[in-house]
Amino acid sequence: MSSASNTVYEEWKLELPSIPPRSTLYSLEPIGIGMPEVECLTSYITRLAEAHCVYPGILMYNLVGPFLQHSSVSQGSRESMAVGQARHTESFNGTAQKRAGAAVYALECLTLQGSLRFLTLLTWEGAFPAHKLLRQTRAWCPACLEEWRRTGQVIYEPLLWTLQVVTRCVRHQCELCVTCPHPECKRSAPWLAWKSRPGHCPICRGWLGMAVHAEDGGDEAEMAWQQWVTEQLGKLFALAPTVEAPPPRTRIHEVLRHALQHMGPERPGRHKEFARSLGVVRATYSTWLSRQIIPPLETLLSICARWNISLYECLFEDVSALVLHAELGVSGPLKNKHQKNGNGSWGTPQIREALEAMVANDEFPPPSLGAVARRLGCYRASLLQHHKEVCNALTKRYQAYLQTKKQTDLQHYCEEVRQAARHIASQGVRPNANQLGKVLKKPGILRSSEIREAWKEVLREFDSHL
Ligand SMILES: [Zn+2]
Ligand SMILES: [Zn+2]
Repeated sequence: MSSASNTVYEEWKLELPSIPPRSTLYSLEPIGIGMPEVECLTSYITRLAEAHCVYPGILMYNLVGPFLQHSSVSQGSRESMAVGQARHTESFNGTAQKRAGAAVYALECLTLQGSLRFLTLLTWEGAFPAHKLLRQTRAWCPACLEEWRRTGQVIYEPLLWTLQVVTRCVRHQCELCVTCPHPECKRSAPWLAWKSRPGHCPICRGWLGMAVHAEDGGDEAEMAWQQWVTEQLGKLFALAPTVEAPPPRTRIHEVLRHALQHMGPERPGRHKEFARSLGVVRATYSTWLSRQIIPPLETLLSICARWNISLYECLFEDVSALVLHAELGVSGPLKNKHQKNGNGSWGTPQIREALEAMVANDEFPPPSLGAVARRLGCYRASLLQHHKEVCNALTKRYQAYLQTKKQTDLQHYCEEVRQAARHIASQGVRPNANQLGKVLKKPGILRSSEIREAWKEVLREFDSHL
């Protein structure tokens, strides 16, 4: 026999190769997990919808909603996943299990991406009360958007922009925008609209980015405060994936009690003194100590700044090891801002000058007294108590602006209704509320008697031509 008959042939493996699990939706990777600039959930949903060439409204209503409806695990419902103008879509990025938790669960199942909860504030449910936490309408830095588009990066919205306490982009030193820059639109938009697209206005479809020059001579104290706030929150967002036990609701109370002990033994006026050192009135502070409520995020940050500790330390450090500034309330990274205003000294000439400067400048739209108080890092009531006249002047200007705006909006809506009704009438149909509701941007405006009058005007025209 020849040696050729002993040739050894290649062995074939007949079992199937291992195939990783398939996801229902494209397994789009979220941006910035473990980084301060992490994306928010509504931004992820918008990008996910774009990747499938459908509107986010369709994705949420036809896929995510029904998925939850048929799932026995989650609390959410089909209705809670619906998006639109009046549906408070900011809560998709928030701390509520019903909205953010349910959406995260459904989207994690559908995309097989396992870390979508870090695109929301779910980790901070016990630390951040919902009150004054999220912006109801979308905010963005036009310079960031423009830069990302110019350099070919992915367009998205960071979780930081969703918070009320963040008002500026510290990279570009500019204020976040809240209304569409296109003159024919000028509208604000929800975080997730039916037709949301990354970086675009969902109403006029216009691009929202533009180059912005840093504001020279802007409010330095405000900028320093924003810088600090952004650092504190960014650090927290970056660490979220490594947090094993999120801070419980009792944490802030423990820290407050620890700080109170720093004030020395019980004596008359101790609580009042402590409340003042936190920059709040006694009644507010009492509700915190009685564990009924916890301070809103902005107040918590302000307290950390006064104590010269980071937000991370406040939430995670061993309470007994927390080193608070010896003279509570007299320091912090924001020396200028908080020292000037610390100990409740809102009656100073510097504050009066700042207020008078605001009355004198022609900022448009003019700020409300509440907004002015926030800028100065104090409370509206304190300003009113010490600077009544100048506060009245600010309030008067703001109310005059609101009045004018109301009139302009009314005229605008009347015109919109007239045009919509005439358009329906031009097709030979008598325009009723149902048809108008389908074409109007805000169907609710038909409840106003002035606006109904504009509609009736068209009805009379229509009837007279019959
Ligand atoms: Zn920016
Ligand atoms: Zn627009």
